[in-house]
Amino acid sequence: MKRTQIVITDYNYENLKQEKKIFSNFNAELLDFQCRTEENVIAAAKEADAVMVQFAPITRRVLESLKNCKVVVRYAVGFDNIDLDAATELGIRVINVPDYCTEEVSEHTVMLLLAIARKLCTLNRTVKADDWDYKAMKPVQRLKGKTVGLIGFGRIGRMVAKKLSGFQFRIVVYDPYVDQGIADDYGIEFVDFETVVAESDFISLHVPLNAETKYMLNANVFSKMGKCPFVINTGRGGLIQEEALIEALDQEKVQGAALDVMETEPIRLSHPLQSYENVILTPHAAWYSEEALVAIQLFAAKEVERVLQGREPKNLVNQEVAGNVALRKIKA
Ligand code: NAD
Repeated sequence: MKRTQIVITDYNYENLKQEKKIFSNFNAELLDFQCRTEENVIAAAKEADAVMVQFAPITRRVLESLKNCKVVVRYAVGFDNIDLDAATELGIRVINVPDYCTEEVSEHTVMLLLAIARKLCTLNRTVKADDWDYKAMKPVQRLKGKTVGLIGFGRIGRMVAKKLSGFQFRIVVYDPYVDQGIADDYGIEFVDFETVVAESDFISLHVPLNAETKYMLNANVFSKMGKCPFVINTGRGGLIQEEALIEALDQEKVQGAALDVMETEPIRLSHPLQSYENVILTPHAAWYSEEALVAIQLFAAKEVERVLQGREPKNLVNQEVAGNVALRKIKA
């Protein structure tokens, strides 16, 4: 009988100790790759019973080629590299790891906000170039009383609001999908998208990337920014139209940007945003801590184990296929 095959399409972790430990409990073969393209994934995973993926594209074409696959687990909160509709049609479960890094991303967001506002990178660079002068950071405004606009108020957005609470900001939030009655619990005001754009000194993005949120910050939106805000993005690169951001920086519609995520990752050295003093870039690192690293690999592997053993996973994204593991439609 064919051994159960688990394929890791790509990963940037130091090792796969957690996965190996979990999968050694049952007779599964674990294969790991560093796929970048559809073709790579199809070649690597065509026999897989389960697929674990970090950044590789899991498109409809890929999913249709996976004849045995019951489950695709994304090593992340977001699952925008997986064609969810295709997976659902094919009866393949899609699983994400929802809250392994809420603390880390919210910490990173607050760090970016303070660093871009207080010009940390400029000061560090100038002091190390033997220039001991506070004037390198001019102009800087006091934070107290400024308005922070959060777009998306799920796990991370809420944690950011909590962590910012000591700074005496006014915090305005746009998220039409959450109960607006929780505003007082977090010391925030729910407002519409236009108000966030018009009134914020800082705008921070915490929504998933999907058809509705793609290019949420575009040329039209940048043109309506009333307070020349700083933009912080630890969500997904595709939430911001990068060309429009560059134009907004040039036209001083935006005061600066701190970005952990880019439309195309990794960012090229020749990318225009690399050259702006008022842009801070970090390499999709907001999620990382040693604790989060253990949590994500362990949780993802345990989800695969659950599904392959016929049990319900903890975090099924496409609920439509719940209870359907054994009934997966196999395309001829
Ligand atoms: P979450 O699902 O808990 O919260 C997302 C929130 O966005 C929800 O409250 C939802 O109502 C809201 N939302 C959805 N569509 C919206 C829209 N059109 N307008 C306004 N609000 C909308 O997710 P989370 O754990 O808070 O994570 C948020 C995002 O952060 C993830 O989707 C992921 O892309 C990103 N993320 C990045 C990193 C990183 O390392 N940079 C790590 C983890 C997560």
